[in-house]
Amino acid sequence: MITGASKGIGKAIALEFAKNNASVIINYNKDKEGADLIEQGIKGIGKKAVAIKADVSNFNEVTAMIEQIKKDFGRIDILVNNAGITMDRTLKNMTQDEWNKVINVNLTSVYNVTKQALPLIQKNGRIINISSIAGLTGNFGQCNYAASKAGIIGFTKSLSKELGKLSITVNAIAPGLIQSEMTNKIPFFRKRIMTAMIPLKRMGTVEEVANCALFLASEKSSYITGEVISINGGLGL
Ligand code: NAD
Repeated sequence: MITGASKGIGKAIALEFAKNNASVIINYNKDKEGADLIEQGIKGIGKKAVAIKADVSNFNEVTAMIEQIKKDFGRIDILVNNAGITMDRTLKNMTQDEWNKVINVNLTSVYNVTKQALPLIQKNGRIINISSIAGLTGNFGQCNYAASKAGIIGFTKSLSKELGKLSITVNAIAPGLIQSEMTNKIPFFRKRIMTAMIPLKRMGTVEEVANCALFLASEKSSYITGEVISINGGLGL
C-alpha cells in the first residue's frame, strides 16, 4: 500500500513493486485520473492493483480506506507512507494554515495511516516512511516541512522499537532533490544553484528512490530497522 501514489515518487514505487510481483493499493486524494491510469497499467502487466481515494490527513477517510483494504485484500505486507506537500515560506510570513496543513498532510497522516493499517500488517511486514533531507538538515523557508519530516524520523525510530518483536521493520527514506512535480515548483535558477552543490551534479529520479524503497521492502533488508536511508547524490556531505 502506497499513499499519495498517483504521481511522482509514490507512482514510481507502485510501478516498481508491481514489477516485482506485489499487488498494489494506490492511495490518492484528488488525482483520480492519474491513480486510475496506474491501476490500469499495473493490471496490464498481469498484477493486482486498486486505486482508493482518501485524504490521508483525515482520520475518518483513512478508516474507510482501511476497511475497504481489509475486505478486498485481508492484509497489508508493505506500507509506504509517501503522501506529502510543501507550502514554503519563512517563519516570519508563515500562516497558521500553512503550518497546520503541512504538519497534517505530512506527519499526522503517518499516524492516521500506520495506526489503522497496523492490525493488517503481518509478521515480517515492512513500513517505509518517506522523510526528506530537510528533516535532517533543515532548509530555508521550510520550518513546517522540515519539522514534519523530522517528526517522521522520530516516529520511525520509535515504532521500530515497538514492532521489532513482530519482525516488522520500520525505516525512513530521506531523499534530496528529486525530479517531480514538487520540485518543478522551485525556480529554475535556484535549482541550478542547488544542483551545483550536489556532488553527483544532478537531481535524482523517482525511479532511484523507488529502487531504495524496493530494497527496504525486500527480504534483503531483513536486519535493517529504525534507519534513515539518505538518497541525495551526496548533497549535505
Ligand atoms: P508529488 O507532489 O509529485 O507527489 C506527492 C503525492 O502526495 C501526490 O500524489 C499527491 O496527490 C499526494 N498527496 C498530497 N496530499 C495528499 C493527501 N492529503 N492525501 C493523499 N495523498 C496526498 O511529490 P513527490 O516528489 O513525489 O513527493 C513524494 C514524497 O517524497 C513526499 O512526501 C515528499 O515530501 C517527499 N520528498 C520529495 C522530494 C523531492 O525532491 N521531490 C525530496 C524529499 C522528500
